Amino acid sequence: MELKAKAKINLTLDVLYKRPDGYHQVEMIMQTLELADILHIEESEETQIICNHPFVPEGQGNLVYKAVEELKRYCNIDKNVKIHIEKNIPVAAGLGGGSSDCAATLKGLNKMWNLGLDDDTLEKIGLNLGADVPFFIKGGTQLAQGIGEKLTPLPSPPPMWVVLGKANMGVSTKEVYSNLNLENISKRPNTQSMIKAIETGDIKEICNNLCNVLETVTLKKYSTVRNIKNRMAQMGANGVLMSGSGPTVYGLCNTYDKAVRIAKNLETLTEEVYVTKFC
Ligand code: ATP
Repeated sequence: MELKAKAKINLTLDVLYKRPDGYHQVEMIMQTLELADILHIEESEETQIICNHPFVPEGQGNLVYKAVEELKRYCNIDKNVKIHIEKNIPVAAGLGGGSSDCAATLKGLNKMWNLGLDDDTLEKIGLNLGADVPFFIKGGTQLAQGIGEKLTPLPSPPPMWVVLGKANMGVSTKEVYSNLNLENISKRPNTQSMIKAIETGDIKEICNNLCNVLETVTLKKYSTVRNIKNRMAQMGANGVLMSGSGPTVYGLCNTYDKAVRIAKNLETLTEEVYVTKFC
């Protein structure tokens, strides 16, 4: 069985407060992209996870291994699989690669083992693996609230090309959240305005409403990330924002030609540049 695990970007990301259990209460609109990892799953004597990326652990350290174990435990199943992950999504980049691989694994095994679990159940199991995993069960465009588990599907925005520029470093999501000073945030997303812009298909308003409070941490710390963002804006991207905790910055473009022109120019700042689209 071959599965696609799409990347995501955050069109908005707001952190409302830190909960007593240590999690952050968030409100964010996420959008999946065509850029995707490919997972090959086959029955096997024992569970094995293999990945072609040097920074992604194989075996038990991989998030996908935990997804297999969690599903087996939930459904009381004694079967094993070999999963080969072809990594195309940059790692530790704010693009949700590991979470998406987990969701794809849950969906794939649900089919392969004829478990008949509905999306709500897969989202519930996914939440035990990571706060962003439930979003990837359906993907598309969704509002995520709570710690990420309260999901509201939104209509698809108009098609847009997306340039991704990743500075040459990985960013720890945990570290960014722990350095976030909630009292120091001057600009927050207007989530309702963004929803309205998406519903009416207003590209200009979508671009005006892009906002991510985690930029206050990552952009402040890394000049390369700031430079990538500034360059995308200078080059005429319709909207620019950092995704998740970074360090990837994306530029939304209304034409493919513009996206390619920006991507080419960005290559003077960083090697990791991609052109993809909403999907
Ligand atoms: P998020 O924004 O959800 O934190 P991210 O895109 O910033 O995600 P990931 O690419 O998911 O980050 O990687 C986070 C860490 O998890 C990396 O340090 C990586 O080594 C580890 N990891 C374990 N399994 C995987 C996997 N299947 N894919 C990617 N990373 C994995």
